[in-house]
Amino acid sequence: MDFENRVVLVTGGGAGLGEACALEFAAQGARVAVADWSAESAERVASRINDNGGEAIALAIDVSRADQVDEMVNRILSPWGRLDVAVNNAGVSAPIKPLAETEEDDYERLMGVNLKGVWLCMRAELRQMLKQGGGNIVNMASALSKRVFPGASFYVASKFAVAGMTRTAALEYAEQGIRINAVCPGNVRTPLLESTTDAQTQQILAGLHAMKRMGTPEEVAQAVLWLASGRASFCTGNLMSVDGGWTAG
Ligand code: ADP
Repeated sequence: MDFENRVVLVTGGGAGLGEACALEFAAQGARVAVADWSAESAERVASRINDNGGEAIALAIDVSRADQVDEMVNRILSPWGRLDVAVNNAGVSAPIKPLAETEEDDYERLMGVNLKGVWLCMRAELRQMLKQGGGNIVNMASALSKRVFPGASFYVASKFAVAGMTRTAALEYAEQGIRINAVCPGNVRTPLLESTTDAQTQQILAGLHAMKRMGTPEEVAQAVLWLASGRASFCTGNLMSVDGGWTAG
């Protein structure tokens, strides 16, 4: 998978799955824009890439704000002039609760990032990709784009919606040389997950997968890179499961 000099944007690139994607694209020769609302996390990942002889910039942005998203694309164009690949990965979760107990604030915050954020990013990315005559988008969906999970009503809703938006946009832009796919990870061992869940919960999460273990961020990144690469040249509108067999059942 050759990404030599390709310009790649990873939103939520400062941690977890996004960080693994940013590092792997850089390892394959890409110039990487690491966008995250944590300026510190974005800087840390960009520095790791630059310190290893790669080329990265850090962008502190909130994907739920239209002005900041449009500005994000401009800040990539000013050094690099184009946007070849966009990975829309920024996401948040909400407390696990049955629907009747959920809060409006949590709903607004989650939908603002997981759904509106992906829509705003795709809109800005597509406008640039249409101008330059092609591009590639990979959205971070979830196994919960295909299965439901009690206690996660609006998280599930946001991920089902991302799956639908991915497939719709894939059809809209297939003839213009823009492939649009999504990766649907199962439960992945990230620092965030390990710091917020106890050992028993982690065991339950791993047990949902046929393989009875959690995934790693690197395993998810490999699927993202493959979809974004020329090897996937006939794939668009795909929702690729990387979930140890969870949704096969
Ligand atoms: P995952 O396990 O999906 O990788 P993380 O929480 O580890 O989850 O990573 C998600 C990343 O998305 C974090 O770095 C977080 O700062 C980032 N993020 C969350 N909300 C926003 C937002 N509104 N704008 C930009 N980045 C965001």
